[in-house]
Formats: sequence, C-alpha cells, structure tokens
Amino acid sequence: MTDATLKITEIFYSLQGESNTVGLPTVFVRLTGCPLRCGYCDSEYAFYGGTRMSLDAICDEVASHNPRYICVTGGEPLAQRECLTLLTRLCDAGYDVSLETSGALPIDNVDPRVSRVVDLKTPGSDEVARNRYENMALLTARDQVKFVICSREDYEWARFKVDEYALVQRAGEVLFSPAFGQITPLSLAEWILADNLPVRFQLQLHKLLWNDAPGH
Ligand code: SF4
Repeated sequence: MTDATLKITEIFYSLQGESNTVGLPTVFVRLTGCPLRCGYCDSEYAFYGGTRMSLDAICDEVASHNPRYICVTGGEPLAQRECLTLLTRLCDAGYDVSLETSGALPIDNVDPRVSRVVDLKTPGSDEVARNRYENMALLTARDQVKFVICSREDYEWARFKVDEYALVQRAGEVLFSPAFGQITPLSLAEWILADNLPVRFQLQLHKLLWNDAPGH
C-alpha cells in the first residue's frame, strides 16, 4: 500500500497505435497535464481536469484488463513526479511497459526496464526549443525516438538530427510519422525511400481505426 497519487485522464484498453509494439493489445494510462503546446497535439483533452487516483487504484484498474503491454502516456507523464514510481510498480508486476514522453523533461530516472518512447520535437511542432538534447545520450536499444514530421523542412531537420546524435545506432527504433493533415503519408514514405533512411515509417493506427476518439 502507498499514499502516492497521480492525476489520471483515462485508463483504457486498445490496440497500440504507434511504436515497435504497434497493433498489440495494450492498456493505456493517460496522465493529466502537459507543459508543452504542440500545434498538432491530439490529446488536448488531457491538459486539464483528470481524476486523482492512488497508485494502488491505478494498478488495480490496469490489472482488471489482464494485459501484457502497458503504455504510460499523456499529456506529459513525467510532469508528475510519482509517474516514476508507477512505472517501477508496473515493471515489478511483470508487464511490458512503455512510456511516451515529449522529450522536454529528464528521462534518466525512469526504470531501466521501461521502453522510453522519446519525441524530438521538430520546428513545425512549435515546441522545438523544448527539446532536452541531453536525453539523447541516455537512449539504449530498449528505447525509441519519434519524430512527427509537418513539412519537407521538418523532414530535413529530422534527418540531420538522426545523424547528429547517431540515433539509429543508439536507440532501438527511430520512428518517423507524418503530422496528420499537414503532409501526406505518401510524401513522407517516398522521401524516406529516396534517401534510403534506416528509420521506421509509421501511421497512427488508432487514428485510422477510431478517428482519434478518446478512449482508444
Ligand atoms: S507533448 Fe504531447 S501532449 Fe504535450 S502538447 Fe505536445 S503532443 Fe500534446
């Protein structure tokens, strides 16, 4: 038992829409609040409100779905200190745990069993100044780096950062996603092929299936 609490926007069971576990049934724990304001944000409903829950209650609700994969997301989950404790508890319980983070906050205290999915915010996100580049040196083969690409200029920027920080060598996956409604998925796919980039193109499966409805 513990007194620790977190503000939670939603806990739900769905298919993972992104990353190296895309398509796998996953329980999502969406924490409330984010200090960033990316222009393409699709989870603004998580900025405010939420329900304060004890870590015990969160773990009980997660367990009720009998999952194998858990994704802790937001908002920016690391903006709440007890997120680190939750991640460790979920790992201790034997789940395969991932964390989606904006890349603006330190990731060094995250339990090493967690797969950290760290964004590098492109200029087109309007939040490029928030990138915490110190995080790049901490990435391991368990981790993933994600770029959401809004334009050809963003693509060139991302390509440069992949080289500059040797991300293909450092991280388990480098993910390139088209920003929904800003470039066509086909454009990004063709740019990656033309440059023979060793990155993983991804579409957001949950958007295709559920059109971004909360709870999926
Ligand atoms: S970091 Fe994520 S949750 Fe926060 S504003 Fe950007 S896209 Fe939205």
